[in-house]
Amino acid sequence: MNKTVIVSNRLPVDLKYIENTLVVKSSTGGLATGMKSVHSEGNGIWVGWSGLAEENMNDAQKVEVDNALAVEKCVQVPLTNSDIDNYYYGFSNTALWPLFHYFQAYTEFESSHWQSYVEVNQKFADVVLQQVNDGDTVWVHDYQLLMLPEMLRKKNPTLTIGFFLHIPYPSYELFRTCPWRNELLQGMLGADLIGFHTYDYARHFISSVSRIKGIEVNFNEISYENRIIKVDSFPMGIDYDRYHNAALEHEKYPEDSKSELMKSIDFHNKSNDESKLILSIDRMDYTKGIPNRVKSFEYFLNKYPEYKGKVRLVMLAVPSRENVAQYQLLKRETDELVGRINGDLSTISWTPIWYFYRSLPFDELIDLYVASDVAMVTPVRDGMNLVAKEYIATRTKDTGVLILSEMAGAAKEMHEALIVNPNNFDQIADSLKEALEMPALEQKTRLDALQKRISRYDVERWAGEFLKSLKAAKDTVPVQVAQKLTPSKIKDIATNYKLAKRKLFLLDYDGTLAGFKNNPSDAIPTQELYDLLDKINEDDSTEIAIISGRDRKTLESWFGHKSYTLVTDHGAWLRKVGGEWGVLDQMKSNWKENIRPVLEAFTDSTPGALIEEKEYSLAWHYRKSDNDMAALRTMELKHVLKSLLINNTLSVLDGNKVLEVKNSNINKGRAATRILADTNYDFIFAIGDDWTDEYMFEEVPDSAYTVKVGNIKTAAHYYINYSTEVLPLLRDVTGS
Ligand code: UDP
Repeated sequence: MNKTVIVSNRLPVDLKYIENTLVVKSSTGGLATGMKSVHSEGNGIWVGWSGLAEENMNDAQKVEVDNALAVEKCVQVPLTNSDIDNYYYGFSNTALWPLFHYFQAYTEFESSHWQSYVEVNQKFADVVLQQVNDGDTVWVHDYQLLMLPEMLRKKNPTLTIGFFLHIPYPSYELFRTCPWRNELLQGMLGADLIGFHTYDYARHFISSVSRIKGIEVNFNEISYENRIIKVDSFPMGIDYDRYHNAALEHEKYPEDSKSELMKSIDFHNKSNDESKLILSIDRMDYTKGIPNRVKSFEYFLNKYPEYKGKVRLVMLAVPSRENVAQYQLLKRETDELVGRINGDLSTISWTPIWYFYRSLPFDELIDLYVASDVAMVTPVRDGMNLVAKEYIATRTKDTGVLILSEMAGAAKEMHEALIVNPNNFDQIADSLKEALEMPALEQKTRLDALQKRISRYDVERWAGEFLKSLKAAKDTVPVQVAQKLTPSKIKDIATNYKLAKRKLFLLDYDGTLAGFKNNPSDAIPTQELYDLLDKINEDDSTEIAIISGRDRKTLESWFGHKSYTLVTDHGAWLRKVGGEWGVLDQMKSNWKENIRPVLEAFTDSTPGALIEEKEYSLAWHYRKSDNDMAALRTMELKHVLKSLLINNTLSVLDGNKVLEVKNSNINKGRAATRILADTNYDFIFAIGDDWTDEYMFEEVPDSAYTVKVGNIKTAAHYYINYSTEVLPLLRDVTGS
């Protein structure tokens, strides 16, 4: 039976040597909870770093750690202190973390860090590859392991690989500043499914892929190296019941079993009937906006002085990455700020900010959540933010208000919170006032909606949805029925070609016989092409048909002097070998007068786009335009054109970086049928690269050899990757 392997930087167990005794503690963190059922199912395992550096253990301890981890169904990736310094504190946390959180000024691109990042990702890959069997599923987590999906796929293409990024994915403008942007994208593209917390992150990722790698993207599907990679958003949830039930339990605690923290909070509450607690919980990280929050609280107290003496900010900052310089600076700044404000505003009976710099055990965390009237979650940038969701889960009395930064991923699904811009002190101060004065009914209404959503889409559901999509992504890949043309298949085709009595080649021109040029008029036939086609045409039993979207004038100027069958304008005109031009489908062209101004307007607003006028169609080319802008504009243009093409005589063809408006009765399929009608061919070979050629593939008999250039979905039987392979293929098939 196939298994699922979870891979993350850290394992979901905490290992420590205390006086030479190994102490093992399972993690109760969000990810570990979400993965619990996946991890415990069948022979599933979790691969990651144990938290103990190689040099700090003797051989016996290493074995002991391996055994202890095996009990937890975990396998460790051995890392040295230097790995941790360079890969973790280095590249992951001084390059990727600040870059992905829009802290460009904090970003350091050190090539030694990068080297270590690649090496450590390879170490992870080696361990995973030892653990997997063909067909297994691997779910890779987070920014420390961006290179891993590709490393795994390269060595074992049978794996189903999912990747989830737990932090934001930045805009292309930021991502492109990374010197290793190409490698990082390449690494991620090894996955079958790439998941993000929000649609915006997914959109930024797709934009980077399309702009940096120039890869075709179709909505949320990336066609790459004969695979389809799905990109989607899966907002991570929490273990709702754990927090909700813990809050319910807490209310029942008798006075004498309350924690010291809870007793102090009770004391504060009793000191003044109107007193209120405002909660702030985060890791001490510059992305969390802690100094801004403290300053905006001070601003609030000065703007609404009636609250002095009545409200208190309880601020828990959990130590994090303390050996990274920016974190040390942040700690100092926060200490000073809290010290100054408390110094300025405190009275004998009131301290505005209670500040804890430590990590609290779960029970005390629940104390804080339960006791707080308002939670202020105002990061300047945050992938998701689970604290916001945990606070909502602990509301058991229909009271409590959440103030949430619009820069947190959670804001995308928690609309009923008071949403603020974390840099707008006025707005935060007013929201605090609104929260403190919010009528009970409104608090309940907002909480009901939030709790309904967060309890439904909990962390287990999140993991389940991701894995369901991963399975679907893998299952949909075989939609591509076309097979890659292998040398042995080409040999078979060549043999049949030799044996056949009447042979026909249906050849598309642009993107097939000729590569694309920025300007269509530059894509003229090469001498090499002429020579090859002439050579093939020397055989009397072989007929060449060039079947193109080009207009009659162009095709005539290029091939008019040759004894080939020519089809122009996607099938509007046909000239059989030795015959005259004939119209396949007659139509009037006065529609152009209405459509042309629309195309002109779009051309003006899309740098690089151009209009090509053909006898029976108008083409809007955007090959030279910026990919993202063109994607947007083509969508708009299609919409406008659709509303104009009221009758069915016109249609819009979506070609390779071109939109073409033409008579809908004309297509290459009809033209191919017409050619086939006159002769009984026993060898038919059709090749083309875009949607217009699909009509041709569909109309020719099933016995024909149909070849798509490019690997996106097709009705053709075979495919090759690039137009540069076309002439060698024709040479091999015909022995020319
Ligand atoms: N947390 C904790 N101990 C503490 C304070 C907080 O374990 O003393 C937990 C908190 O309950 C939450 C997590 O740390 O589950 C923080 O997650 P979040 O998404 O808010 O921020 P991150 O630290 O992942 O950036």
